[in-house]
Amino acid sequence: MTQNKWAAKINPAVRNIPPSGIRKFFDLVAETRGVISLGVGEPDFVTPWHIREACIYSLEKGYTMYTSNWGLLELREAVAADLEATYGVKYNPRNEILITVGVSEALDLAMRALLQPGDEVLIPEPSYVSYAPCTTLAGGTPVFLPTGLENGFRLSADQVQAAITPRTKILLLCYPNNPTGAVMDRAELARIAEVAVEHDLIVISDEIYDRLTYVGRHTCMASLPGMRDRTVLLNGFSKAYAMTGWRVGYAAGNPEFIGAMVKIHQYSMLCTSITGQMAALEALKNGKPGMRRMVEHYNRRRHLVVQAFKDMGVPCFEPGGAFYAFPQVSVTGLGSEEFAGELLKEEQVALVPGNAFGRSGEGFARVSYAASLDDLSEAFRRMARFVRRRGVRPRVISTPLTISAL
Ligand code: PLP
Repeated sequence: MTQNKWAAKINPAVRNIPPSGIRKFFDLVAETRGVISLGVGEPDFVTPWHIREACIYSLEKGYTMYTSNWGLLELREAVAADLEATYGVKYNPRNEILITVGVSEALDLAMRALLQPGDEVLIPEPSYVSYAPCTTLAGGTPVFLPTGLENGFRLSADQVQAAITPRTKILLLCYPNNPTGAVMDRAELARIAEVAVEHDLIVISDEIYDRLTYVGRHTCMASLPGMRDRTVLLNGFSKAYAMTGWRVGYAAGNPEFIGAMVKIHQYSMLCTSITGQMAALEALKNGKPGMRRMVEHYNRRRHLVVQAFKDMGVPCFEPGGAFYAFPQVSVTGLGSEEFAGELLKEEQVALVPGNAFGRSGEGFARVSYAASLDDLSEAFRRMARFVRRRGVRPRVISTPLTISAL
C-alpha cells in the first residue's frame, strides 16, 4: 500500500514509460557467470592516450571551473571547423553550436525545446532505445516507420510522406543506424529532405556514427538543399573517439533552435564538464589518425562477423556503418527474447533482443562487434554450437571462423 501511495505521486508520463528492454536483459546478464557480452554499444578501445594526457594536463593547469553555458568557445570553433571541412556546412560557433552532456542530452533538449503536447515525431524503427521515451517525456507522440531486412533497413521518402499528418512536427533520423547498422544513400536522403521541406518538418539528425561509415560516404542531413536551418544536427565524441565515459556531445542548428535548447541546458546542466570538453578539443585537434585506425578495426570485424553468421546459416544483411550486426535469429524458430535468453543460459553469450528496439526488431538480435577479437571468436564458436542444436544447417564453410586470424 505504502508503495502504491508513493507511486501515485509520480508524474504519469514517467510512470507509464516501460523500462528499457536492454536493461531488463542486462540485469539477467549481471547474474550469469562467464558471460561474453556483445550487447553493449560501446567501443572496446580505451580513449587514445594523447586525449587522456591532454585532460590530465588541463587539470594540472587548474582548469576546474564552469565554462560558458554554451561550452568552451575554442571547442565550439573546432566543431564548426570540423563540420565545415567534412561536410561543407557552416555554423557560427557563437550562437549555432551548443556543447552538451553527450548526444543523449542534446536529443532531450531538442525534443523539450521543440515539442508541444500532441506533436508527432516520425521515428524509423527499429530505433535507438531513447527516441520514443524522450519524445513522450517532452509531450510528443512517437509515430514509428517500420523498416526491414528486405530493404536493408533503409527508410524511403514515400514512407515518410505517407506518415505525415497535420500534427507531424519532427522527423528523427539516425544513420548509420543503431541497432541495424543501416546507412542511407544520398539520393534517398535528398528525397526525404524534399518531403521535409514540402511539409515544413524539422529533422533531428543523430549522426553519432557518421565517422563509422564503411560503405560509400556519409551524407550530413544539414548539407542537403534547404536543410541546414530545419535540421538539428546531433553528434559527439563517444563512438568515433572511444570516449563514452567523458560525456561530451553537441547540437548544431539555427540560432533560434539552439538558443532555445541553451535555455533548458543552462538551468539543468549549466555546462558540460570542463575536463571532458578539454579532452574533446584534443580529440578534434589531433585525434583523426587514431580514430581512423579504430574504424579500420571495426570494418575488418564487420566483414568477419557477417561472414560468420552466414556460415552458421543465420541470415544477416551487411551493415554499412556503426558497429552492430543485426542477424535474423528467428531462423532458429525462436523469438528475439527467447533466443537471447536461451543463448545466455546455454552458452553464456549476451546479445540484445531485437524487439528492445521496437516491434519491427522482432526476430532479430543486435550484436556489437566493438568487442575484443578473443571475445568475438569465442562468442561465435558458442553461437554456432547453439544454432546447430536448434537445427540450423551451416553453409559449407570454406575456411574455419576467421575472426581469430585478424
Ligand atoms: N544516439 C545513438 C544512436 C546511440 O547509439 C547512442 C549510444 O549508444 C547515443 C545517441 C548516446 O550517445 P552519447 O554517449 O553521446 O550520449
